[in-house]
Parts: sequence; structure tokens; C-alpha cells
Amino acid sequence: MKRNDFLKFIPLLLTFQAFKPLRNLEYLTNKEFNSDLMPVLFLGHGSPMNAIEENTFVKGFREIASTFPKPNAIICISAHWFTKGTFVTAMDNPKTIHDFGGFPEALFNVQYPAPGSPELAKKTQEVITQTNVTADFDWGLDHGTWSVVKHLYPKADVPVIQLSIDYTKPAQYHYELAAQLKVLRNKGVLIIGSGNIIHNLGLVDFRNINKPNYGFDWAIEAHSKINGYLREKNYQPLIDYAKQGKAFQLAIPTAEHYLPMIYTLGLQVKGDKMMLFNDELMAGSLSMTSIKLSE
Ligand code: ZN
Repeated sequence: MKRNDFLKFIPLLLTFQAFKPLRNLEYLTNKEFNSDLMPVLFLGHGSPMNAIEENTFVKGFREIASTFPKPNAIICISAHWFTKGTFVTAMDNPKTIHDFGGFPEALFNVQYPAPGSPELAKKTQEVITQTNVTADFDWGLDHGTWSVVKHLYPKADVPVIQLSIDYTKPAQYHYELAAQLKVLRNKGVLIIGSGNIIHNLGLVDFRNINKPNYGFDWAIEAHSKINGYLREKNYQPLIDYAKQGKAFQLAIPTAEHYLPMIYTLGLQVKGDKMMLFNDELMAGSLSMTSIKLSE
């Protein structure tokens, strides 16, 4: 190719580059470099055994990852990092935390050696102005993160950081905090909330744990109402979940597994479409419903 011919293609190359996710650190620091808008996910993680079992939910996680480009990095808001104040993991190599008991040894043997991203942790601290976000060097990746992210990226080749959930704050606060992270969706960063929308462990029906799509009457009612609000993008009743009556109170007896979904909703931008998947009840008192918000 003659030099002049090559020069003709430069504008084209630059355009192409600007709309692809960028696989280097410059993506975070250079204002000119933006990726396509990344989706936002909420993943119903369910039992930690999903990390090593093959089932329809795990298949759903794999399939969803195939619908968008591989991200530059991931921020996960896990139900299992519930703290006083807000923290972000900032180490180079987060450890795999086995934060459960009574499961088979095979589950304790799982390692998910994805690198961290001190750069993304710093950027997260910068974009959140609503509160002070503290860099953490002790936590790592808890099972709310690795049991699902390992199905999306089995090679552990995408850097992952976690952002904690401040348990002293109400859902409205978390919804607003999440909105401050929107800018990262244009930096090739995939943001994932990991919990379970309906999660009442005290009422799990262990005799019917394998019965497909099985929920108690109150779970069916809460599930139907919640999905209705999600599909209408009518989020205020979901933020005010404690005021929605008995079925909601039984479905959401504690906030930690529910609030990761509020983060996902808070990250919505105009034009996002809502897609539900893995939308099943389980063991009477749990739901695996997962969400993808994308253009
Ligand atoms: Zn959990």
C-alpha cells in the first residue's frame, strides 16, 4: 500500500478504535477514549454450588456473557460484602474467599485467580462523590462474585474489583450512589450486582429443593409484582420495597441480597432495554431472576 493510500484509512481506523472496548489502562485516564456502552447485569447467584454444578442457571450466565464484548474490567457489588461505610478492593491480586460452611471440599478447592485493578479502584473512588470510598487491601473476591463471574469468564482473564454495600444506608441512597458509576459503562467496564431478589433462607423448603420453578404463594406474588415493576421500569416501588406489604416483607426479610439489584437499576441510562433471564423461583422462598440492561 502506498503511503498516501494508508493515510486515507487513518480516520477510519481511529473511528473503529474509538468504538471498541480498549484493552489497556489508557481507557480509564484518557477522556477521548470511550467504549461502546457496556451492559449492566444483576445475577441471581443462588447456592454456592452453582460455582461447580452444571445447570440451567449456569448456562444462562454463560449465554449472557456471549451477548456483549469482553469487558476491560469488572466491578461486582456482592451481597456478601456488607459493611459499615463503602469500600473498594484495591489489591493487585484478590484472593478467592470461601465465605460459607458445610459444603463439599470440591467447592473449597475452587480458585478464581482474576487480577484486581488498583487503577479501576482509584477511578471508582474518584467518580463516587456521594460518600468517601475507602481502598481495601484485605477482602478479595467472595463467592457472590466468583461463583458467577467464573461462568462468564472461565479463564479469569478480566480484572475484577468489588465495591461493598454500606448496611447503614437505605435503598434510595444505594440507587443514587450507583448512578455515579454510569460513566464507567463507557470505559468498557462491566458492572454486576450479585444477590437474589427473593431470598428468605429461613423458609427454604429443603424437601423441594430440586422442584423446578417452585415458589410459595407469597413468593409467586412478590415475583409477579417485582417483575411487573421491572418491565415497566417503575423503580420507585422497588426502592420503597419495605412499604409494599406482606409478600415483599417475606421475600426480602433482609436487604443484603436485594440491594445489589438496586445498584443495577441505578446504573440505567436512557435507551437501555430490560431483559430478564434465569427467571425462576426455587425451593419455595428464593428467586434466581437475573437482569441485563443494555442498549
Ligand atoms: Zn448469597
